[in-house]
Amino acid sequence: AAAPLLALRNVEVVYDDVILVLRGLSLDVPAGSITALLGANGAGKSTTLKAISGLLRSENGEVTRGEIQFDGSRIDGVEPDLIVRRGIFQVMEGRRIVADMTPMENLRLGAFSRRDRGIADDLERVLTYFPRLKERTGAAGYLSGGEQQMLAIGRALMARPRLILMDEPSMGLSPLLVKEVFGIIRQINRDLGVTILLVEQNARAALAVADRGYIMEQGKVVLDGSVEELRSNEDVKEFYLGGA
Ligand code: ATP
Repeated sequence: AAAPLLALRNVEVVYDDVILVLRGLSLDVPAGSITALLGANGAGKSTTLKAISGLLRSENGEVTRGEIQFDGSRIDGVEPDLIVRRGIFQVMEGRRIVADMTPMENLRLGAFSRRDRGIADDLERVLTYFPRLKERTGAAGYLSGGEQQMLAIGRALMARPRLILMDEPSMGLSPLLVKEVFGIIRQINRDLGVTILLVEQNARAALAVADRGYIMEQGKVVLDGSVEELRSNEDVKEFYLGGA
């Protein structure tokens, strides 16, 4: 098989020098895939994304063992802005859009690390996925939860990333909106070839769009496989898909 775009090898993460949260986590994200990272509250999913994007340090966390490789080079210990320049963009949990700027201004912010001339064209293209954002000319803080989530994804696309890290895009959305947002995630992955690492508590929604997945418990991977394998696994059915 081809080398994965992103690989974590035995990653250990500690907060405040003492709190061990990731305990030897290994996972592969193949180029072009949507890879789901599932697990209960507190399993360490958000910590995993922050370890990749370099945002751990601002929370006094550190990768103390193991390696994170992106496109063949090590990125653990690299500053967050340099990680963005290498092509990894995180869509944070709770969305973190700039509430008092317009949606359009938020989208332009996504392109902050770019110096090329394609930004205007990309803005048009991103808006084809989220046409509703074009009509919203007021402050982004007044957008609905679903619109804010779409804006956060659109802003990530404006960075032209190779890998998007998504932290619980379903959070706070109605089932209908979850379907819509996940449909757009799938479409973006197919059209633009962007690789996606998707962290979710909503296993059902995540497994409906992902190609493969990992299940984490207490800072480690306990199960992995294709979406078909995971969906037919008895433990996954019982604990993550509500016995369906
Ligand atoms: P959730 O879905 O609730 O966000 P998660 O799987 O994403 O869960 P994390 O947010 O990574 O889990 O948290 C994993 C563990 O690390 C938890 O026990 C949490 O209390 C701890 N933790 C997270 N952030 C910090 C921090 N900044 N300082 C200390 N401990 C932290």
